[in-house]
Amino acid sequence: MTETEILNFFKESEALLTGHFLLTSGRHSDRYFQCAKVLQYPEYTEKLCKVIADNFKETEIDTVIAPAIGGLVVGQEVARQLNKRFIFAEREDKKLTLRRGFTLEENENVLVCEDVVTTGGSVFEVINIVNNNKAKVVGVGFIVDRSNGKVNFGYPQFSALKMEVVSYIPDECPLCREDIELVKPGSRNFK
Ligand SMILES: [Zn+2]
Repeated sequence: MTETEILNFFKESEALLTGHFLLTSGRHSDRYFQCAKVLQYPEYTEKLCKVIADNFKETEIDTVIAPAIGGLVVGQEVARQLNKRFIFAEREDKKLTLRRGFTLEENENVLVCEDVVTTGGSVFEVINIVNNNKAKVVGVGFIVDRSNGKVNFGYPQFSALKMEVVSYIPDECPLCREDIELVKPGSRNFK
């Protein structure tokens, strides 16, 4: 699948919008991206996760792990396609941890999955969980890399799509200069 085809999935599902947006950081951008909107549709989820699963099909994997919440759908679907066990880490006192009786065996081969990587914080936390259990990280697979190429997990890593993030401080925003209406995603008037 080409990056253009993948981008079209995001556009068709309105996961990727173009316009003039106020981001949670306070910066302005001509794009707004919400990965969960594409993952609403099992057909898209299946195709996007197949790109990840195919990339790791020669890798020896026992278990797929993902951080909740964003990574759940991706981890589950990649694990389903590879027919491997799937577990997840979730936050307890702000720290990602294995709950619900999930365990990792020593030397177990683990693929870490996530939906979107910006700073990679959650993935780094999951990698620590795997290492603390003396299991082995064999790769990191995610749908969108928004780190502008900056995040390196130190293991074979793969993203289905690299999406450059362009944002501006309000004073330097070219869209403000063009008097295009600023919208805040998630607000009442946001479509
Ligand atoms: Zn602006």
